[in-house]
Amino acid sequence: MRLTTKKTEEILVMILGEEGRSLVRYLIGKENISEFDLANKTKKDIKIVRRLLYNLYNHNLVGFTRKKDKQKGWYIYYWTLLPESIKFSYFKMRRDHLERMQHRLEEEQRELFFICPNKCVRLNFDQSADFEFHCPECGELIHQDQKKDMIKSLQKNIVLVQAEIKKLIEQRKVRRKVVTERKKVVKKKVAVKKKVVKKKVVKTTKTSKPKKVVKKKLVVKKKVVKKPAKKIVKKK
Ligand SMILES: [Zn+2]
Repeated sequence: MRLTTKKTEEILVMILGEEGRSLVRYLIGKENISEFDLANKTKKDIKIVRRLLYNLYNHNLVGFTRKKDKQKGWYIYYWTLLPESIKFSYFKMRRDHLERMQHRLEEEQRELFFICPNKCVRLNFDQSADFEFHCPECGELIHQDQKKDMIKSLQKNIVLVQAEIKKLIEQRKVRRKVVTERKKVVKKKVAVKKKVVKKKVVKTTKTSKPKKVVKKKLVVKKKVVKKPAKKIVKKK
């Protein structure tokens, strides 16, 4: 899933509610925004801004750094959204939604439902029996619901969400591959650097013994000589 601005906003507003929309809009695509800046730009009280930010923080969707204000002596917090966590959070939301629909489908297929002709209520068999098959709102006789449409629409939505989740999982796998390959490259680089350092060390020890000197080795020698000289100057 490409985490577009629109999608990010949609996901975060689902968590914060409409109240958080302006804050989310100001955070997207930026880094280290101070909470006072956020309060100013969104024209919200700092307490509300903090409550919204902590809510995002509790969902692990935003990170912060803090700096001490030397004049006032308190800490100012700077906030940044975490796109990877937002993606994962969206994935979990879709997975939960799928589970709820599957549960609902099972229930629909297993149970009988009764509805009021005035569409006040829809009750399962036990509930309907409790009300002696009369609507608890308007008193009309309730009748068995034809569940076909409900089941069809649930099945259709389940297929859609399953496909979406499958896609999300594949994309996660690709991203993880990229990350692990990057790590491998970094490891190789580090390993190469270590080898280079080792070689240099070997060279210096070798050069200090035999005095058949090539240009490169001279450079090493100079360095070795310089260090103790500097130290002596410092001590004086
Ligand atoms: Zn009714």
